[in-house]
Amino acid sequence: MYHVKLNNSTARVLFLGNNDESTDQQILKLAKEHNTINHGLVIDSEVVPDQPGFYHTTVVDIPWGNLISFASKFDLIVMLDQPQAQWSHWKCMQATFKLMVKLEQMGCDTVFRDNKNIKKISYWSNLVYKENKSFCIYPWINFFNDGKELKLCSRADTAVTKIDQFQDWESDPNYAQVRNSMLQGHKLPEHCRVCYSYEDHGIESYRQFETMDWAVQLDLETVKDLEKIQRPYYYEIHTGNHCNIKCRGCQPAFSEPIGKELKKFNIVTPDVMKWTPGTSTIDQIDIDNLDSKSTVYFQGGEPTIMPEVLDFMKQCIAKNQTDFNLSMCTNGVKFSDEFLETVSHFPNTNFSFSIDGYTKVNDYWRSGSKWDRVIANAHMVQNLGHSVSINTVPGIYNVTNLHLLFEFLDREFPFTAIYLQINYLPWQSAFNHPDKDLVIESMLKCMQTSVYHSNGKSCKSGIDSIYNHYNNNPVCDLKNLNDFFAYNDQLDRARGTKLADYIPELEAARSYISEYK
Ligand code: SF4
Repeated sequence: MYHVKLNNSTARVLFLGNNDESTDQQILKLAKEHNTINHGLVIDSEVVPDQPGFYHTTVVDIPWGNLISFASKFDLIVMLDQPQAQWSHWKCMQATFKLMVKLEQMGCDTVFRDNKNIKKISYWSNLVYKENKSFCIYPWINFFNDGKELKLCSRADTAVTKIDQFQDWESDPNYAQVRNSMLQGHKLPEHCRVCYSYEDHGIESYRQFETMDWAVQLDLETVKDLEKIQRPYYYEIHTGNHCNIKCRGCQPAFSEPIGKELKKFNIVTPDVMKWTPGTSTIDQIDIDNLDSKSTVYFQGGEPTIMPEVLDFMKQCIAKNQTDFNLSMCTNGVKFSDEFLETVSHFPNTNFSFSIDGYTKVNDYWRSGSKWDRVIANAHMVQNLGHSVSINTVPGIYNVTNLHLLFEFLDREFPFTAIYLQINYLPWQSAFNHPDKDLVIESMLKCMQTSVYHSNGKSCKSGIDSIYNHYNNNPVCDLKNLNDFFAYNDQLDRARGTKLADYIPELEAARSYISEYK
């Protein structure tokens, strides 16, 4: 299948494949067939491919961003047509596909569209990015019970049904209605406003990347295969607001200490805060039916200090049911010995570390967090064999200095996926900083990093969206900026901190509100 494009004897060809020996053998064979040299596996993106012949590498040998610049030095880039089962993880196959799409968009000469093993990835990609702006896989797989109602996911605004009215996963009429609407492409703003808002800003949404991930993970060919799904595969669990830090963008529903502080200091908030925490319980999880395709995701508060999470893990261990994907967000501040020992029984874990700025910016925004300790803990859990991803919220605190975090992550976590989660609180929005030049400078520096291209979620599209926004000469909403300073000053007084000591450029932006007042 490759012969037409490979026959140029002076061409330098890069093959991307899985990371086992079959790739080496396949390239050796192809090189012989095409009477050219096999230069072997490349693991250093600085290598200059100055000789004709075949080279190969993988997404686990060279960080994603570096791979883009490295691959663009070749005359032709080929994705090997290897079955999903031959990849060490479906994510590597999907990441390679996404990389090929990016190289294709950049105008590189690529060969992968006719691969039979990527047909289903192409199908789902076309569906959610082009053909159907409503479809999301969650109504078929995500069981999200907030303690009172069932919703499509933790971002959904309204309930699909009440718990006592819910029938069963396959046939519940309320779920059936949502599923049919999505299949027909009818948008559901009452449920999915958040994802539509991401997409309106040009940012990749959960709807898009979660559907892509789950379709590959569950090995689904087309929407027809959804009919075979009989049970939830994904549990989003939001069990209370037990937390040990007080992020400035957070709310009492997610951090109990914030609620206490707001009350103690009579802090006036710019808008109504969410006070009622989720009350999902671990009893909702059908432990006996968890398998290697299932995921249980604990949200915060801080799951690593929640007794319920520990209890859930112990129940799973007692039932010898640990071979599923266990995922949780964490502020990374502290991991107890008991927690680490218990989670060590689970072979497929991911910790999504929330890190919102470089050094002081992180510690200011995420009050109670200590940069050095969080970074040491991220390395520690990685060294214990757990997977780590980074979750970052662009907002008014970091939108002028985000590049410092990206540059750090390039140095310290080059293979780690970065997820950007946009803060849309109007008074903390990444889209309402008054100094557009500073933001543009920071975004341009982010674009120079490798992690900007990481296979994370909304990462590149999030940075691009902020950059495009500020390039269009936006008008800063001074009321929202005034609300920001009014709220943040109250927090500073309560916490004995000063914005100028941590983010001087944001303190300088205070001058813009004098005309508002
Ligand atoms: S489209 Fe977005 S908000 Fe709606 S269910 Fe999917 S992930 Fe949730």
